[in-house]
Amino acid sequence: MKYFTRTIAALLLVLTLATLPARAQSMLRDAETEAFLREISDPIFVAAGLTPQSVQMYLIGDPSINAFVAGGQNIFIFTGLWDEADDVNQLLGVIAHETGHITGGHLARIGDAYAKAGSYSILSMVLGAAAMIAGSPDAGMGILMAGQNAAQRSVLAYSRVQESSADQAGASFLEGIEVSGNGLIEFFEKLRQQEILSQINQDPYIRTHPLTSQRILRLQGRVETSPYKDTPIRADWQDKFERLKAKMKGYLDPPVRTLRTYPLSDTSITARYARVYAYHKQVNFDLAFAEAEHLIAAEPNNPYFYEIYGQILFENGRVVEALVPFEKAASLAPNQPLILTAYGQALIARDDPDNMTIALPILERATRLDPSNTFAWFNLARIYAWKEMPAMADLATAERFFAAGVGGQAMIHARRALGGLKVGTPQWLRAQDILAVTEPIFEKQQRKQRRKRRFSFTTGTNIQ
Ligand SMILES: [Zn+2]
Repeated sequence: MKYFTRTIAALLLVLTLATLPARAQSMLRDAETEAFLREISDPIFVAAGLTPQSVQMYLIGDPSINAFVAGGQNIFIFTGLWDEADDVNQLLGVIAHETGHITGGHLARIGDAYAKAGSYSILSMVLGAAAMIAGSPDAGMGILMAGQNAAQRSVLAYSRVQESSADQAGASFLEGIEVSGNGLIEFFEKLRQQEILSQINQDPYIRTHPLTSQRILRLQGRVETSPYKDTPIRADWQDKFERLKAKMKGYLDPPVRTLRTYPLSDTSITARYARVYAYHKQVNFDLAFAEAEHLIAAEPNNPYFYEIYGQILFENGRVVEALVPFEKAASLAPNQPLILTAYGQALIARDDPDNMTIALPILERATRLDPSNTFAWFNLARIYAWKEMPAMADLATAERFFAAGVGGQAMIHARRALGGLKVGTPQWLRAQDILAVTEPIFEKQQRKQRRKRRFSFTTGTNIQ
């Protein structure tokens, strides 16, 4: 049970809670949150005439209020925005508005072949841009250098006309899914109040999406015409929204704060969920287990409760015990690549031959469902190596680097894999595909470096 994995894209670092700097921008990966975002957003994308699978959503662990579209059809939502939203309709409103930027074609697409090929390279670029918008240019530059350099072009402040048109489109999409647009208005009003109160401390969202009272008025006019303007909030969505907010806070906030927000007197599932993470973060395993057991008793078919239970056991060194809840989670959510990855990781932790064999198809499935999952590729390569299948191990490693946007390493491992793969097999073809993308980029870089070296050699010599 993987709970959240924080990944700083392109750097290939899986950071532990202890080592993560306070304001690091990282992508949060959590099976439950991703499933919920898809559940509530896919209908919006359909209403907008988009293919849901073509729109990627990323959750960025950052307390600032921000959301934007970048690198084509990628929507980035900051945990700070989720936290600021009072209800699911406010979050839905923002997602509908961002979708309006996509359908309006408000952003230049990134033409780079590699950016298209690896979602992580887009991500590293965007994270860099996000860091700059959030006002930490040093961190931004660091991430940018690791990634691409087109970030500033791809994340610009939208014009007022674009904002208004995204509002109108967003309101239509909300109407299409029979959701009231009042949430979007409320959220904008809230940000507007903050803007008036403090000109200096503006939220990044206001900087990227300039708000004016005129704009809000126009949006109000549009929302008023919707037959769904007074439709109540969907209770099941609201419940999940609150639950995930609690999970996020438990995971990101200092435990003391979480325990203040969700005091022991609150025995709701939401509060217990927040406390599991707070106790886990405090390394207070007994209390974390106790809360997790309450959760499982309350909802015995909820895969995510088994996931966190397994995760706590696993991180507590109780690897064999962790397999039971992980297996349960995987059987309840067989299409959740992050859960499958966590289960696979626990299975191979002890190099037990039987468990290695069980883990192989599980991790293969995880990578099939989510090819951008570098950690699953890493563990899959380990199994292949252990089973003395070096070419497959090299191919899995090539995939891992490819997903991480590390082209040079992807190329090296794909070349190595080719030597041992049977010509014409799907694996052989895949290695060829990776080479077809990485080799031209690598050669271009080589040429650039050679040129640079030549220049530095001649500087100051002035022979002619
Ligand atoms: Zn906007």
